[in-house]
Amino acid sequence: MNKMTFDEVRTKASVRPATARKVAAAVEGFFVRHRTWLSWVHAVMFLVFLGIILVPVFLPDPPGNATPLTHYTTFANYLLWGLWFPLVFMSVIFTGRSWCGLLCPMGAAAEKANAYGPKFKIPSWLSWEGTPVASFLFVTVLGQTVGVRDHPEAAAEVFGGTMLAAIIIGWLFGSKKRAWCRHACPIGLLLGVFSRLGAVEFAPWTRKSTTEGYTDRGVCPTLIDISRKTESRHCIECFRCVNPSAKGGVHLEFRKPGVEIERIRDHHANPVEVWFLFLGTGIALGGFLWLVLPIFQKMRQSFGVWSIHNGMAWMGQPGPAWLMSVHPERNEIFLWLDFVMITGFMLGCMVLLAAVLAAFTSCSSALAGRAGGDGTFGSRFTELGYQYAPVAMVSLIIGLGGKLFEPIAYTPLGIDGVHGAKGLLFLIGLLWSIRLGERILARQGVVPSRRWLPLMPGLIGTLAVGLGWWPAIFGLMK
Ligand code: SF4
Ligand code: SF4
Repeated sequence: MNKMTFDEVRTKASVRPATARKVAAAVEGFFVRHRTWLSWVHAVMFLVFLGIILVPVFLPDPPGNATPLTHYTTFANYLLWGLWFPLVFMSVIFTGRSWCGLLCPMGAAAEKANAYGPKFKIPSWLSWEGTPVASFLFVTVLGQTVGVRDHPEAAAEVFGGTMLAAIIIGWLFGSKKRAWCRHACPIGLLLGVFSRLGAVEFAPWTRKSTTEGYTDRGVCPTLIDISRKTESRHCIECFRCVNPSAKGGVHLEFRKPGVEIERIRDHHANPVEVWFLFLGTGIALGGFLWLVLPIFQKMRQSFGVWSIHNGMAWMGQPGPAWLMSVHPERNEIFLWLDFVMITGFMLGCMVLLAAVLAAFTSCSSALAGRAGGDGTFGSRFTELGYQYAPVAMVSLIIGLGGKLFEPIAYTPLGIDGVHGAKGLLFLIGLLWSIRLGERILARQGVVPSRRWLPLMPGLIGTLAVGLGWWPAIFGLMK
C-alpha cells in the first residue's frame, strides 16, 4: 500500500464523482469569469476593516450591559472575535484558504502596494522558514500584553500595525507577488497548516515533479511553482493559475477532508511546520490560561514580592501603552511585573506543551519503527506530528474564539448548550486526530494489528491538549 505512486494516491484521494467535478468546474468558471471583480471585493473589505478596527477608538466606551445589538464597539468586537476569528479557521476545512485569496484586505493591500514599490528581491531573512513562526509568536504575545480583545486601541495597534507591516513588506519585496502572505503573515502559516485538512485542492493537471517548487516567476502570488505544486498550505486560492479552457495549469478539485495529512509524505511533510504546530498550540493555550488560572495570580504575587526584595522596584511601574495595557479610565494598568509574567507564562506554556507533544510523537515514531514502519525516526516523527492538526485547530477555535458559542446561552439550551457545543467540537477534533494518526501509520506500512501501540502516545498527547483547554470548554473545576 505504501508503494503507491503520487498520482495513484491522488486519484484515490480525490472526490471523483461526476457531480463533484461538475460543481468544481462551475465554481472555477464563476471565479475565473469574475476575477476582475475581486479588487472591488478587496476594496470593500478594506473599508470594513477600517470600520471595525478604527471607528471604536473614537467612540465612548460601551456601558456594562451593552450587547452587539446596542453598541457599535461591542458589535465590532463580536465581529472580530466571535465571528471572524473562529469562522476563518473553521472555513479552511470546507474551502481551504479562500479567506486569503478572496476576502482578506491585508494580503490584497500588500499586493497592491507591490505594484508601486521598488520590487527588491525577497531577502533571505524574509524567506527564512522561521520568519512566520516568529511573526505569529510576537503578535500573539503582544496581543495579550496590550489586551487586544478588550481594548479598541489595542486592536487598532495590533491589526493596524500588522496591516502597515503587510503594506511595507509588500511594497518593498517581490515582483507582482505577496511576499508578506508567503513569508511573514502571523496567521498565514497557521491557516496553511490547517488548510492541509481542507476539502479543496488546487492541483496541477500535469505535475512535473513530486518535489514542491518555489519560484518568483510565474503567476502565483505566493511563489508556488504550480507545475510542481504538491501541498495546499501556501495556496491562497486566488484562481489566477486556473484556466478551464487551457490544457495545462491548475484545476480545483474536491477531496476527502484530511486526506493531505493522511498522505502527508506525498505532500511535502515539513519538520518546521510540525514544530510550529506544537509551539503555536502551546502559546495560544498560554494566552488563554493566564487569564483564568488562579495559579497565575499566585505566581505573579510571589514574583512581585521576590523582585521587590531583590532591588527591582521598576517591576512595580507601568510600562509604555504600546507594549502593555495602560487604561486608567477602565481601571486596568499593567505593570512591568504583569508584562514579564504574561510573556513568561505564555512562553513557558509554549515550551511545555511543545515538549510534551514532541515527547509523545517521539514515542509514536520509535514504536512505529519497531512495528515495521518505514523511513527514519525523523521522517516518521514529522509525519506523525501532523496528527495533532485537528485537535490543535478546534482548541484554538474553542479557546480563543469562544465568543462564537455565546449566543447558544440565550437559547433554551442555556450554558449547558455552550459547553455541549464546545465539547462536541472538541470530540470531533480528538477523534479526527486519532484517525489521522492511524492513517499515517498505515501509510508508513505498519500492519493493522500492530498500529494500536504507536497510536497510544498520539492519543495521550491529544488528550493532554484537551486537558490544557479544559477550562475553555467546560470552565474551571471547583
Ligand atoms: S496570508 Fe495573512 S495577510 Fe495574506 S491573505 Fe492570508 S490572512 Fe491575509
Ligand atoms: S497555486 Fe494558483 S490558486 Fe493557488 S495561490 Fe498560486 S496562483 Fe493562486
